[in-house]
Amino acid sequence: MSRRILGLILRIAVVVLALSAPASAFASTTHERLHGQLVNHAHEPLQPTCHGYSQTVMPLGQAITAVEWNCRPSGWRDGNTVSWLSFSGWTEGEPPLLLSSRITVFESLSIAAIADGAVQAVVHYSNDDARPRIAGPVFSLPMPATDAATDGFIVRIVRPHSVTIASEATVTSDPFDLAITPMSLILLAMVAGMLLMPLMLDAMFYVVLRERFVLLHAGMTMAMLAYVMFTGGVVHGFADVPVSLQAVLGPLVWAIGVGLGGLFTVAFLERDALPDWLRKTVIVIGWWTMLVPGFFALQLDATQPFDNQMYFLSIAAAIPTYLVAIVVALFSGSKAARYLIVAWMPIILASADRLLRGMGVYSAPASADQALYLAMALEVMIISLGVAERFLTVRRERDLALNQARSLGELSERDPLTDLLNRRAVVERFDSLRAAGFTTFALLDIDHFKTVNDTFGHGIGDNVLRAVARALQPDDDCIAVRMGGEEFLLLLRGRGAAQRAEQRRQAIVLHVANAAQLDRPVTASMGLVEAPAGALAEAGFEAIYRRADKLLYEAKEAGRNRTISERLQLFRRRHDTRRTVF
Ligand code: GH3
Ligand code: MG
Ligand code: MG
Repeated sequence: MSRRILGLILRIAVVVLALSAPASAFASTTHERLHGQLVNHAHEPLQPTCHGYSQTVMPLGQAITAVEWNCRPSGWRDGNTVSWLSFSGWTEGEPPLLLSSRITVFESLSIAAIADGAVQAVVHYSNDDARPRIAGPVFSLPMPATDAATDGFIVRIVRPHSVTIASEATVTSDPFDLAITPMSLILLAMVAGMLLMPLMLDAMFYVVLRERFVLLHAGMTMAMLAYVMFTGGVVHGFADVPVSLQAVLGPLVWAIGVGLGGLFTVAFLERDALPDWLRKTVIVIGWWTMLVPGFFALQLDATQPFDNQMYFLSIAAAIPTYLVAIVVALFSGSKAARYLIVAWMPIILASADRLLRGMGVYSAPASADQALYLAMALEVMIISLGVAERFLTVRRERDLALNQARSLGELSERDPLTDLLNRRAVVERFDSLRAAGFTTFALLDIDHFKTVNDTFGHGIGDNVLRAVARALQPDDDCIAVRMGGEEFLLLLRGRGAAQRAEQRRQAIVLHVANAAQLDRPVTASMGLVEAPAGALAEAGFEAIYRRADKLLYEAKEAGRNRTISERLQLFRRRHDTRRTVF
């Protein structure tokens, strides 16, 4: 059954990945082939012509000659005070109107229009001037005014917190920002919807089965949903989130999601799937991932030179750790691990791509993130199936354990001679029995039983005990217990409880006479305590038992074959208020 489901999942995963992951890369390479030179087409986004870095914030005009420019699309760096970009090379149409790049934290961004090697016009922006796009972790800013003489732009980004703000920057002359395609919006909506479904399932599972892994799965799913909302820009459809905040929340929820992934793995895998040291390592890495990369995600001023690299380096620890854990679990025959490996392969590949881009190893447009969104949706769906199966297994195991416990309890709580409950059975449940209304407590002891034994033998004595048990007639409102030897206890609830106890005591003579041919009637004495709700609420079994035993002793002293009863008062006045002797 699960093998078939896994096979199906694998096939779906392969198809979705084949369709989605290379889609963005495919799009740009096809374009390049179709248009020969991407840079010559005015309506296509133009990538930076050159990039450079400096430790001082110099004027834009000065940078043309003072910055050491790198005009290859590689060697992207971060951690410098300023990242510089230059754009040129459009041959037809108007100069670009918009600068776009990946959302990140920065101090200021200035763009200069250049004509004949001199600055024509400059615009200055702060982080929150950036206009977020709806689809994608991308912001846009207007270019300065240009004219026919404009032949290039220089961009100065002061204190940027990531490589990608340079490596994923583009300029375009399309004022409507065509990069927001209906497809990417549909994709984001679909992913968000796919992430919402498992959340509802998790809620339902958790109501039935209070298992930690269900909560952790919900947490992970929420983190992914938040990631899609923040980095996909979906959040701007709902709320006015400044770009500087969006730039922090995206990587922060990613770190939390990856960290929860580790905690989830440990909780989700079967108890014996991982050796103790590995389980602990995964938990430590899970917390590390939430705290350390989580801290660098905040992109504080003080950490600007290194926070981007530290974020990606510290989050990278999770990938090999989780992989090792899953592989070890797989080898120990874990079923849950099979779901994890299928679900996490796409997300690990897409994350690795995001990680390498984030560290500046290579660049690709921000739309490459779509592969990550799809991998997430896929992951959550597969893990949800796994959670559902695990849910069924855990419930089955639990039902089984419960049944076993029940039948064991039944056996060990019965007295084999009379088949009545034994002392342990009521002592353990005494509080809940009282709460269920069993407030009348009658202790019975057979009169002169020793002489029955002595005269007729132990076998006949046993028969007498069995007959007494039958006389006690347990039912829904009367629990009969053999306390030991020839001592019995009745717990009763409902109207006329004391009378019903007394009838049972008196029935003993007849039952015994029917069961054994003796030359004398066998009777019993009884001490009865009524403890209505509220009376001696704090008194446990032992206190009430002692009380009843004292009354029983009094009944014996008074001549046997009788009952002495008392009703405990509310609010703890002296006990012996209303006493009756039958
Ligand atoms: P009293 O009226 O004061 O209660 O006198 P009694 O003889 O009933 O009381 P006592 O406690 O002296 O004797 C109880 C006897 O019950 C002693 C013991 O041998 C007998 N007894 C205890 N358990 C069993 C049992 O399982 N089977 C039989 N046949 N006798 C038992
Ligand atoms: Mg006795
Ligand atoms: Mg006795």
